[in-house]
Amino acid sequence: MPLFNQRHQQALAQRQDQGLYRQLQCVDIHSQGLNFASNDYLGLAQDPEIITAWQQGLTQYGAGSSASPLVTGFQPPHADLEQQLTEWLGYQRALLFNSGFSANQAVLFTLLQAQDHLYQDKLNHASLIEAGMLSPAKMKRFAHNDMAALQQQLSKIKVGVDTASLVVTEGVFSMDGDCAPLASLRQITDLHQSWLMVDDAHGCGVLGDTGQGSCHLAGIKADILVITFGKAFGIQGAAVLCSQETAEYLVQFARHYIYSTAMPPAQAVALGRACSLIQTQSWRREKLQSLAGYLDHHLDSSIDLMPTITPIKPIIIGDSSQTMMIADQLQQRSIRVGAIRPPTVPRHSARLRITLTANHNETDIHQLAIAINEVVNEAVDVG
Ligand SMILES: *Cc1c(COP(=O)(O)O)cnc(C)c1O
Repeated sequence: MPLFNQRHQQALAQRQDQGLYRQLQCVDIHSQGLNFASNDYLGLAQDPEIITAWQQGLTQYGAGSSASPLVTGFQPPHADLEQQLTEWLGYQRALLFNSGFSANQAVLFTLLQAQDHLYQDKLNHASLIEAGMLSPAKMKRFAHNDMAALQQQLSKIKVGVDTASLVVTEGVFSMDGDCAPLASLRQITDLHQSWLMVDDAHGCGVLGDTGQGSCHLAGIKADILVITFGKAFGIQGAAVLCSQETAEYLVQFARHYIYSTAMPPAQAVALGRACSLIQTQSWRREKLQSLAGYLDHHLDSSIDLMPTITPIKPIIIGDSSQTMMIADQLQQRSIRVGAIRPPTVPRHSARLRITLTANHNETDIHQLAIAINEVVNEAVDVG
């Protein structure tokens, strides 16, 4: 048997044995009951204004961008969106990418050289950790949100003529819904002449008075801010916000930017509309807060919902199979929640990941709370 077959069969069997086998499911979100597993926090993915903007963009600019940005892919809607983002978030430049995954890889691969030091929070997204491992720099991970640990690591190195140092964190951690201590991170990185990069995939749109995100809420500015459009924007894509000089450097050297077809201009038009709605419709953020309070109020005190200021509401179960079983039972009641297992989260910390959106109402939340009270309590009693 060729080695590939053998290897695949072994790995798949092992995943099954560990209760970690992932199944791709085709989900029609319009006909599947209540969805508490999406990242569409502001409820913009189905927004009629955004759909209309996309349609108008298609009529005006066609289906695709037809080339990478440096050829002919960078068009008026891309330029408009970049400008909108820089004004809103307070940066000189914004560069658009097709995904957060590629934006993170582009930044880490392009910025870091072999003599450099990279520090990442242990719970950073897979795209950041993987980019760090593949980058030429020496990467260290510090315990989640542990500023003493980071400071200790930073104080061991000497930044100097050829050694640069970069600290990378998420603004809001995707699987825990908690926030990074950004004010402390800014202080520590300044003290050690390090740059701070914040991936605010889950904070942008959700936190801050016009949705500017985690850094604005903490009153700091990151040297590099990555935002993604697949979460609160309800669409797809990402942007890197940075100085004029860093943007120029990325445009010269970031291969994910240079050698990838630009997003369709119609998508940039839709993103521009989403960006305006995010800033002006603060009722969406207010609604998320009130729904969170409502959920808290209706869950039994025995349910360990992690307290967060974000719409990400995890309940840690621990055991992977038990987590899957609970999610299945909720699904039988037409309630979909995320069931998150290792290696996405640390071992023995499998969890339900409940996400609220501005499209939910109090009846939905009530139904969710009743189902969780029954199913989780029962599972914990049995288990
Ligand atoms: C979702 C996510 C990404 C990846 O973004 P995509 O646009 O989905 O590729 C990167 N970082 C974090 C923290 C994320 O949650």
